[in-house]
Amino acid sequence: MARIDQATLEQATFAAREEGIDREPERLIRWAGDLLGENLMMSTAFGKSGMCILHMVKDVCPELPIYFIDTGFHFKETLEFLAELRDLWKVNLVARKPALFGVEFVKKFGDNLYETDPDLCCHKNKVEPFRELFGEEGEYQAWIAGVRRDQSSTRAQAEGIELMGGNLVKIQPLAFWTKDLVDEYTKKHDLPQPPLFSMGYNSIGCEPCTSACGDSDDERAGRWAGKAKTECGLHTFWQSKENQPQEGGDDAEEEAEKPS
Ligand code: SF4
Repeated sequence: MARIDQATLEQATFAAREEGIDREPERLIRWAGDLLGENLMMSTAFGKSGMCILHMVKDVCPELPIYFIDTGFHFKETLEFLAELRDLWKVNLVARKPALFGVEFVKKFGDNLYETDPDLCCHKNKVEPFRELFGEEGEYQAWIAGVRRDQSSTRAQAEGIELMGGNLVKIQPLAFWTKDLVDEYTKKHDLPQPPLFSMGYNSIGCEPCTSACGDSDDERAGRWAGKAKTECGLHTFWQSKENQPQEGGDDAEEEAEKPS
């Protein structure tokens, strides 16, 4: 399917905001599906917001490709949950791996890059395999993500529809939702939950970079604990396409199982 041009995107976004569609999650997902068709995808690591959106997507856009970035470092429980959810909800879940995965990655970068240079580790394992989906040869121009304003100060300006330039669009159906609304929706619809949540984790990330954090209200507590890092780069590379980190560089975000 040909990509939608920037002028059409801008007009459609303006009209959607005027109508308040960007603040109504299911309506926004339907709007994005109608406008963008096969140019639209979703990604998730099965966090709390992601599970709410996935539940809406399965009814509103059941064919939508839903990508999980399999870094090779995810908890085995997360990978098992992916397979169970695919069977249960019959959703089009795709595990996408980086070019160098598992043993091959360790051969080139060693077995503790997440310690020595977590930004480069996230860039190689998350940002690169994800960015390829949107490049010149990429299949998509729009991405549904689970970002919410109340998750962190770096996300406080998030919008329901974000035009990223270059005909790229980010759709964030829960941008204006609060944690309480997410919890309410989760309970109301009795959504399946990744096992890590009952094991004391607040966020679903890579095993070496995610810690259990007990009763903390901070949904992103336990990610890169003790480090200044707060994002893997999936939500920031859009703004910095001209300034991507080189090997040994500076960018990155979340999940998986130790390399074998
Ligand atoms: S979250 Fe940690 S293990 Fe996962 S890609 Fe980033 S640095 Fe590597």
